[in-house]
Amino acid sequence: MSTGNAILVINAGSSSLKFSVFRETGRESVAVAINGQISGIGTAPKFEAKDTHKRPLGERSWGADEPSDRTALLSFLLDWIEGHLDGAKLVAAGHRVVHGGTRHAAPVLITPAVMEELEGFVPLAPLHQPHNLAAIRALAEAHPELPQVACFDTAFHRGQPWQAQTFAIPRELTEEGVRRYGFHGLSYEYIARRLPELAPALGDGRVVVAHLGSGASMCAIHAGRSVDSTMGFTALDGLPMGTRCGTIDPGVLIYLMRQKGMGADAIEKLLYNKSGLLGVSSVSNDMRALLESADPHAAEAVELFCFRIAKETGALASSMGGIDALVFTAGIGERSAPVRARVGDKLAWLGVVIDPAANEANGPLISAPNSRIPVYVIPTDEEQMIALHTQEALDPVAA
Ligand code: ADP
Repeated sequence: MSTGNAILVINAGSSSLKFSVFRETGRESVAVAINGQISGIGTAPKFEAKDTHKRPLGERSWGADEPSDRTALLSFLLDWIEGHLDGAKLVAAGHRVVHGGTRHAAPVLITPAVMEELEGFVPLAPLHQPHNLAAIRALAEAHPELPQVACFDTAFHRGQPWQAQTFAIPRELTEEGVRRYGFHGLSYEYIARRLPELAPALGDGRVVVAHLGSGASMCAIHAGRSVDSTMGFTALDGLPMGTRCGTIDPGVLIYLMRQKGMGADAIEKLLYNKSGLLGVSSVSNDMRALLESADPHAAEAVELFCFRIAKETGALASSMGGIDALVFTAGIGERSAPVRARVGDKLAWLGVVIDPAANEANGPLISAPNSRIPVYVIPTDEEQMIALHTQEALDPVAA
């Protein structure tokens, strides 16, 4: 494959769109060249792009009288990128798409039929899927000739055993799609590829990965494949997160409906936006702020977060019949030594011993030599995973 090719990676949210441009450096190999975002979509859009040293490459705002719908913004973005490729050719766009349903265990080249199918998953992920698809549609309108690839957060988990994917509810509901999908799959897949480079023997091992960002989840990976995860039907399940509650007794929802007269919208707001670290602390959803706070409720929020990570580690190890390594990743996992130390303490029963100096240095190996299992910190890179998948998905087209 030519190394003069470039791939655009898009992660589209409700009011912002993050993008990266990768250069192909060989077969199954890419390197990031540009990062940026368009924020304020729908209100006052602003474009910013930086090089890999975080030096500004471009900036633009849109006035109220200028056309700034998604198609106009993506048309601008593509023109801008094409002016900054230094002779490389933009060959495709890869999108992060939250939901690929039960069918998609791999990325897929976008066609009208695929788009129609992905629209069908909107009810399963109403807060994310519509924005992901809107970006694909807008880009197709602006540049119909550019191949687009959807990379799903659910895909990596599709090979899980049925028990890990199934709720104990009437079968008809399961068949209708009310099942455990799991998310953050692109991050886990990246870690599953990266870990054996650091520790070859772990390629076949049983690994628990904790993706601790503002959204947080954990995954049991055995021989490079997901076998269980903490997020289920939605990205609300599992660990407490910045503002999301994580696992909750469903009886609480019935209580809220009956006793508080709350409807779906109010419950959604409570569980997605007002719970988690923010709800418990009443201080912040940001782990840094909580660790710096003297408020005892902030300390309780951190404690609850670490308690649940340790508890889920035990559950996920059980799903694999054991554990050979633990990996921390994403914002908190990559940068918060206190959180990792606290989780390590709670896993002392498992023989985990964290090396304080290595932990402070953010790894990659943060366990002490006498730890029964190694503990790693590995920075995740979902964008790179999307670029690699997009390259892979295009290969049959190029052949
Ligand atoms: P997202 O899920 O939005 O991609 P990130 O992976 O960037 O989020 O993680 C955001 C979280 O990481 C926030 O809670 C933030 O406080 C936390 N974080 C970032 N840097 C640090 C740090 N040095 N110490 C503790 N927490 C940190």
